[in-house]
Amino acid sequence: RAKDEGRSCYAFYTPQHNEIIQERLRIENLLRHAIKNDALEVHYQPIINLRSNKITGMEALLRLRDGDQLIPPDRFISIAEETGLIISIGEWCLRESCKQLAKWHQHLDPNLYISINVSTRQFQSKAFMEVIETTLRDNQLDADKLLIEITESLLLHDNQHNLEVFQQLNRQGCRIAIDDFGTGYSALSYLMKFPIDVLKIDRSFIGQSTVDGKENSLIKAIIQMSQGMNLKVIAEGVETSAQSELLQSFSNDICAQGYLFSRPVNDTEFAKIFMQLTAKNVSVSGQN
Ligand code: C2E
Ligand code: MG
Ligand code: MG
Ligand code: MG
Repeated sequence: RAKDEGRSCYAFYTPQHNEIIQERLRIENLLRHAIKNDALEVHYQPIINLRSNKITGMEALLRLRDGDQLIPPDRFISIAEETGLIISIGEWCLRESCKQLAKWHQHLDPNLYISINVSTRQFQSKAFMEVIETTLRDNQLDADKLLIEITESLLLHDNQHNLEVFQQLNRQGCRIAIDDFGTGYSALSYLMKFPIDVLKIDRSFIGQSTVDGKENSLIKAIIQMSQGMNLKVIAEGVETSAQSELLQSFSNDICAQGYLFSRPVNDTEFAKIFMQLTAKNVSVSGQN
């Protein structure tokens, strides 16, 4: 997930570059002490089944506290990856969100699942599988309640170790999603090679979908392919009801997340949103 921004600007020294370097060092420093200082927060974005209009799960999205500000992941994940700090931070995120999920199983709905972003470096770390297993056990969670999001770039190279981790996750019962599907450089053949369960259609396609644009054909093709291959689809970045209706016209078994339903929110807000939507669904079906 590392971004290329700011990589090619070492040739000349300017005051702006100095600022960029200072800011980078500052974030690196915040990250280094983030766990000890309790400076990481997980926000949760509901994932909705468009047919039932119910929340079926949530994506865990990290934020870094900086005084009274929250730094978004686009400004710290790549730094965490480059420094290797992503391994401990990613493990913290996994533990924290599984702990939260176990509470929601008691108070909201025992079928909810959590979707977690895993960087290549974390995926390939020695302890990865062990951390997953321990976390599930500690929180008494069934493995099918955990969806692991990885990006296409992880599948780019033929790598025996990766394949083994995939097979272990699969045996364990965890589900695997390809995040930002369609934006990477991988060949589709990896869908045959790895035990993938879910495709998350990147929000850039959803955002540009119009009544009959090219993006529509692309979204439709991804959905049709998924149906043929027994993969689930989650559409990212759904912001309008027109987009939601379009997706529903393509499939009666599709999930979505996006600002139309909710932004990523903290745990308290998530529980409120869940209960509001449940109450609304009950009153709607009560009228029939
Ligand atoms: P992602 O996994 O593709 O997450 C979806 C991003 O889209 C989130 O940004 C979310 O806030 C945003 N989003 C959701 N719905 C909408 C919408 O309707 N419109 C628009 N414009 N945006 C929407 P966020 O939270 O800033 O996260 C950015 C990226 O940071 C994530 O992209 C993910 O790649 C990475 N990330 C976040 N948390 C973690 C983590 O714990 N570990 C790792 N390795 N990466 C993480
Ligand atoms: Mg994601
Ligand atoms: Mg995504
Ligand atoms: Mg993304």
